[in-house]
Amino acid sequence: LITMQTHEELYNVLKSNEQATQEGKPEKLKTVVVSIAPQSRASIAATYNLTPLQVAKRLTYFFKSLGVNYVFDTSFSRDFSLLESAQEFVERYQEHQRKQHSSSFLVNNENNESRKISKIKRGVNNGEYQPDSNDSNLPMLASSCPGWICYAEKTHGFILPYISETKSPQQIMGLIVKDYFAKKLGVTPNNIYHVGVMMCYDKKLEASRPDFFDEDYQTRDVDCVITTGELNKMFQEQNYNIKVSPESFLDSFTKTTHDGQLLGSAGSASGGNLEFILEYSARELFGITGVDVDKEKGVIVKIGRNKDFKEFTLEVDKKPILKFASAYGFRNIQNLVRKIKSGNSPYHYVEVMACPSGCINGGGQLKPSENIPIKNWIAEVNNIYKSVGSQSPEQNEIVLNLYNEWLEGQNSPKCKEILRTQYHAVKTTLVNPLIVNW
Ligand code: SF4
Repeated sequence: LITMQTHEELYNVLKSNEQATQEGKPEKLKTVVVSIAPQSRASIAATYNLTPLQVAKRLTYFFKSLGVNYVFDTSFSRDFSLLESAQEFVERYQEHQRKQHSSSFLVNNENNESRKISKIKRGVNNGEYQPDSNDSNLPMLASSCPGWICYAEKTHGFILPYISETKSPQQIMGLIVKDYFAKKLGVTPNNIYHVGVMMCYDKKLEASRPDFFDEDYQTRDVDCVITTGELNKMFQEQNYNIKVSPESFLDSFTKTTHDGQLLGSAGSASGGNLEFILEYSARELFGITGVDVDKEKGVIVKIGRNKDFKEFTLEVDKKPILKFASAYGFRNIQNLVRKIKSGNSPYHYVEVMACPSGCINGGGQLKPSENIPIKNWIAEVNNIYKSVGSQSPEQNEIVLNLYNEWLEGQNSPKCKEILRTQYHAVKTTLVNPLIVNW
């Protein structure tokens, strides 16, 4: 399934469509939809010295000239994922507190600065660790990186109940396209061919998970993932010059939205969940407003042993009430897993991402020319990413409309049913179970 996910496969679908049109067989036509991740857009913008809006419009032109029917920006599915993750965190925290109070489980550490949050107990058999049921496990660990999920499933089964059940932006986009949008078009999900342009190869792996396969219609939510690098290869194969390309308007799901303009997405390009979840839970759990993680306002940010491990602490009267962390790259993930296993994690939430520097540095992104140091390049791509003005996901009109029109309102049972997923411990005989190139 994964090997089939290439831009060649997209060419084949477009060719079949062309043939079906020539033969006058509309029943054989597939609606082709392309969703572009903002990190991919930023990588192309940095490479070709364009603005994110120019890239979005020129990519829309490029794909449509090949025969693609709709081109969407995925920033809003990321907002969906952020809102759901934040809501899930608040629920877990409240449930954790409730259980803690009833069992007096809370333990202060020696300095009384932070609290041990991990609630793992030793099971009776083989000394294996057994966490409580998912609804109260802390720290909640981010779920949007398939490299990390795959690693956890293959090597650390005990940690799966700590991973957020909220689907990633890619998979939420898949649902929107194959469920909401298909119904709007009046077609079945298998009549849409949905392509994601993403920053890493592991997103192909994510799209191929059986959890995201629709048995009824025998189709995946995301049929094919093309990396930023593969898209760049398509430019060459099609003799397409993005620097001088005409532009087309982006498609949008609702008429009430920004008419082909770009929407920014909250958070950084590296992982981007932590900022919003911290700000949201400070408000929802403690009534604290005005926290701005990016500007280090109302939160104490501490860099750990290396720049890819950071702690974010929210204090009241000099006492920590929320402690978050970001752990990028294999070494930091290993240390974190060890801490959780031994019950020494002081964190409520950790943004875990497999790549050093996170998604902005994903394996599918475009590389800088030889004379540009990688550090400068990552900073440049990140700046471009952030140059698209963002708004709070809670104010995103498209998201709010979709909650009402498609999901029967925010926090509805339908939201939980379709926006959340599960993880599975996998027995493996592989010597190196990691899929990603760390
Ligand atoms: Fe992909 Fe790396 Fe981002 Fe994980 S951190 S989703 S492996 S680019």
